[in-house]
Amino acid sequence: MTDKLYLKDMYLKEFDAIVTRIDGNKVYLDKTAFYPTGGGQPNDTGRLISGSGEFVVSDAKKDGEDVMHTVENPSALKIGDNVHGVIDWDKRYAYMRHHTAIHILDGIVIKSYSNGGIITGSQIYADRARMDFDMPDLNKDLAQKIIDDTNDDILRGRRVIVKDLTQAQALAMPSLVRTQPGVELIKRLSTVRVVEIEGLDMQMDGGLHVLNSKEVGKIVMNSYKNQGAHSKRLEIRLE
Ligand SMILES: [Zn+2]
Repeated sequence: MTDKLYLKDMYLKEFDAIVTRIDGNKVYLDKTAFYPTGGGQPNDTGRLISGSGEFVVSDAKKDGEDVMHTVENPSALKIGDNVHGVIDWDKRYAYMRHHTAIHILDGIVIKSYSNGGIITGSQIYADRARMDFDMPDLNKDLAQKIIDDTNDDILRGRRVIVKDLTQAQALAMPSLVRTQPGVELIKRLSTVRVVEIEGLDMQMDGGLHVLNSKEVGKIVMNSYKNQGAHSKRLEIRLE
């Protein structure tokens, strides 16, 4: 099982590890700070540096309990090699800021605007983030108001707290069991990682965040599309 350093320190940019398995251009390490694609957050990219050279990591994916790194031309790497990993931090930090922005916006929507509607999905990119809503009341003006409220809230400097709950603790949290799929998911997990925007929002989440809302900075509307009463798509980006 790969030791997932990115879950322990979301700000870790460099790390040392040992190569444990090589399968074509897929390289496995005993530990890693490379976030693998998941939960709407894209994988990290970066470099592995060893005594025999420098190798580009172009992708990272989950493989069971392991993280599988796609490495360009890894033929000079051997099992047992010590490597120094460096992630592309500017891109990762943009993912973290967008990710936290989405959770704050979710919290604002649920607190003040959902009117029975729900957020059906989201996707993070380095330069923007997308959210989909099944929210018949939503329109472009309301979306702008939600963004304005989100920006006001970001400035409050809320702490972002990541913690592991037991299944029983998670099932007792009203915000985590809003939907039946959420309940079903919790019932399959022994520990439930949650991300709390203190005083505003709590979600089951495996992704990476900034530790204070102020680090998000200001968000602006990138685009708004009405794709039907049950499908509204909002994109935001960092200013
Ligand atoms: Zn999330």
